[in-house]
Amino acid sequence: MNALLILHRHNHNEWARLLAATAKLNQGFDVIVCGLDADRLPIQPLHGEVLLLPVAAEAGPEVLSELLLPYCQKRSHIVAGTDHWGRDLMPRLAAQLDLPMISEVTAIAGPQQWSRPSWAGAIEQSIVGDGSSVLFTVRPQGFSPVSGDIAKDYQRLSVAELTPLVERTIEPSQSMRPQLTEAKTVIAVGRGACTEQLWPLVEALADKLEAAIGGTRPVIDSGWLPSELQVGQTGQLIAPERYIGLGISGATQHMAGIKQAKTVIAVNQDADAPLMQLADYALTGELDKVLPELLASI
Ligand SMILES: Cc1cc2nc3c(=O)[nH]c(=O)nc-3n(C[C@H](O)[C@H](O)[C@H](O)COP(=O)(O)OP(=O)(O)OC[C@H]3O[C@@H](n4cnc5c(N)ncnc54)[C@H](O)[C@@H]3O)c2cc1C
Repeated sequence: MNALLILHRHNHNEWARLLAATAKLNQGFDVIVCGLDADRLPIQPLHGEVLLLPVAAEAGPEVLSELLLPYCQKRSHIVAGTDHWGRDLMPRLAAQLDLPMISEVTAIAGPQQWSRPSWAGAIEQSIVGDGSSVLFTVRPQGFSPVSGDIAKDYQRLSVAELTPLVERTIEPSQSMRPQLTEAKTVIAVGRGACTEQLWPLVEALADKLEAAIGGTRPVIDSGWLPSELQVGQTGQLIAPERYIGLGISGATQHMAGIKQAKTVIAVNQDADAPLMQLADYALTGELDKVLPELLASI
């Protein structure tokens, strides 16, 4: 067993950069690849073990952390990427292991020296560890990719034996909606659109327009949408043909994610909301009146 453990979600194309980042630690590592097609990922484990955990990427962090916990014991470093998967999983693991965690590492100077951005990237924070075990997520964009061979020896973990919890989550999501970052039309929902009454109308509009649905951070924080559908500075950057913002004020952190949108349409009861000011088409009105009219007109 190696002291360094990399946790990786299959299908996440940042593997080669994650490998480059952890190479700075200059030690062999074990890797656990999570995903139903985990064995198709090119992996060069140096002298370590590769364990494949055939669980759908959609398996929630609660389930995954429980599955992974036994493999995280007695490690000096546990590393994952800074995507939504890593962001959700690693703090839970850190809490369960009672170990410190560092997020969004952009440089590694040694086994106990990390850099990360702080204050929305305005300053770089240097962290020096005290020698204890640590979990961290890396921003792979900061590291040049390293190529790796297909691992010859790997062990496929049997999730069924690990816990019956997985049975609930093993099926990938059946959503027919386009991917948020690839959709031609994105409907973004803000706090003003998230009520029991409005939500079916939002979904009906998305169905009619074959649109992806994304949301602002408060919408994600309050559980209306999963975290990978957050749009903005700390979420996804999107570039659709049409962005339709419903009940969104237009905070700078949200606007940072829609700069590349070609046409911006906004609906808000407040004509002075920043998004309304910036939109190509701004509809002033209450969503419970505007949405039925919109649906009827399409
Ligand atoms: C470090 C940091 C990072 C952040 N990152 C992000 C990020 O990545 N993405 C992000 O989105 N936010 C992010 N935020 C949060 C951001 O600052 C805003 O708080 C958030 O975007 C506001 O979301 P909102 O527009 O849904 O809510 P609000 O600002 O509350 O706006 C709700 C709007 O809905 C309208 N409304 C209410 N009811 C109705 C109705 N019935 N009909 C029509 N309109 C209605 C209101 O007039 C209002 O304009 C971040 C914040 C920080 C500090």
